[in-house]
Amino acid sequence: MTPGFREAQAFDAIIVGAGQAGPPLAGRLTEAGQRVAVVERKLIGGTCVNTGCIPTKTLVASAHAAHLARRGAEYGVATGQISVDMAKVKARKDDIMLNDRKGVEAWLAGMHGCTVFRGHARFEDPHTLRVNDDVLRADRIFLNVGGRAVVPDIPGLSDVEFLTNVSILELDTLPEHLVIIGGSYIALEFAQMYRRFGAPVTIVERGPRLASREDEDVSATINEILDAEGIDIVLDANDVRVAKRDNGFELTPRAGASPIQGSHLLVAVGRRPNTDDLGLEAAGVQTDARGYIVVDDQLKTSVDHIWAMGDCNGEGAFTHTSYNDFEIVAANLLDDDPRRVSDRIITYALYIDPPLGRAGMTVSQVRASGRKALVGKRPMTRVGRAVEKGETQGFMKVVVDAETHEILGAAILGVGGDETVHAILDVMSAKAPYTTLLRTMHIHPTVSELIPTMLQEMSPLD
Ligand SMILES: Cc1cc2nc3c(=O)[nH]c(=O)nc-3n(C[C@H](O)[C@H](O)[C@H](O)COP(=O)(O)OP(=O)(O)OC[C@H]3O[C@@H](n4cnc5c(N)ncnc54)[C@H](O)[C@@H]3O)c2cc1C
Repeated sequence: MTPGFREAQAFDAIIVGAGQAGPPLAGRLTEAGQRVAVVERKLIGGTCVNTGCIPTKTLVASAHAAHLARRGAEYGVATGQISVDMAKVKARKDDIMLNDRKGVEAWLAGMHGCTVFRGHARFEDPHTLRVNDDVLRADRIFLNVGGRAVVPDIPGLSDVEFLTNVSILELDTLPEHLVIIGGSYIALEFAQMYRRFGAPVTIVERGPRLASREDEDVSATINEILDAEGIDIVLDANDVRVAKRDNGFELTPRAGASPIQGSHLLVAVGRRPNTDDLGLEAAGVQTDARGYIVVDDQLKTSVDHIWAMGDCNGEGAFTHTSYNDFEIVAANLLDDDPRRVSDRIITYALYIDPPLGRAGMTVSQVRASGRKALVGKRPMTRVGRAVEKGETQGFMKVVVDAETHEILGAAILGVGGDETVHAILDVMSAKAPYTTLLRTMHIHPTVSELIPTMLQEMSPLD
């Protein structure tokens, strides 16, 4: 035998990536008596647990505490001078994140029939992957490799030290001036939290508005919320250039614009799938022009025994879509239940404060579809619970098919919007008409109780 050569180890299934879909799938497969290899090259738990949802929402909570403390006097609460201890903020975040990661590690370690391999997996042929010196073979292979931050081709960027969603989470001091390239979900969450921690913050967005996938009224209100907190927002930054300076860098948003001096630069312009270094060509797995693995409605790739779940398949970019992918694959393979990706309704939240909860289509999408529709909208100033809480920014909005009475979409940008939107989502999922929700008695006082009222006062979409 050639030195260093190891015989292939045989499994029923190999799962590459221990993100949001891999570990629960390993759980279901091993419960069914299968021998499973899980391969993880970095941190068990993947993006959500280590560098995504959990750490950011923990930081958002600290930022909210600081914000509310500053507003204490409005509620008749004297708080004195407010200071933020960034080392403690980071320690709290690390604690919660590590606890979560350890939970997933322990779950996998105790999973009978599951072997965890630590290292980078790469296909050698359609049934074989190499992980360092280990060669693994299986009848079925599941890819849950996730994605990473896009590093854009900006002149001068490689000359400066810039942050991504991973490295910014290591900061335990306050930036003198945080400049953020990007004006979408991840950028906006970091912008508001760092402003609330006390840093001057500038958002530099290439397009004409923030969160450009949302309706214009949503973008405009997000802009107002962030602007009111003292965040500088630079739009139409279509020719960004960066240059190193003694105490940081200088960023010019477009030709002829005044440069912005900053101490820390966060790049948050989107995500790309971790598929470029997986050896997919050796397995014959097809990807699209952006590198996402092409899958069918039940998440099978172009190769019959290989599936792709989570951010790497381009069918979703959230923890809940990745987990739902696991549920679809498990249902099809183990439960004889033909669940499909096309059954699910798009839903997500933007965790600025107040948050945006979204379900289904935007009003612009409905308009573009040419359907006859009704739209209802209420400002949060008319929601008693929001007034009582002193949090009246934003609005709630719903769009309904005028003929079938099916709810097509909703946006709740306001206090509790991330939770309240589920009342609408569940009715959409049940395929019940909007009148079901309109006639449901809701609890007083809640934000949700205004949904039936909003549905009573809809007008035709122009
Ligand atoms: C800052 C930020 C905030 C976010 N906030 C939210 C939020 O509030 N709500 C929400 O729903 N979503 C949020 N997301 C998105 C969410 O984190 C992702 O959609 C989710 O984690 C994707 O899970 P996944 O299972 O597809 O992959 P991941 O969790 O990314 O896991 C993939 C794993 O595969 C491993 N891997 C990759 N290639 C290989 C290889 N060749 N060999 C071995 N291992 C490999 C990686 O190391 C990684 O651990 C956020 C993302 C970011 C960046």
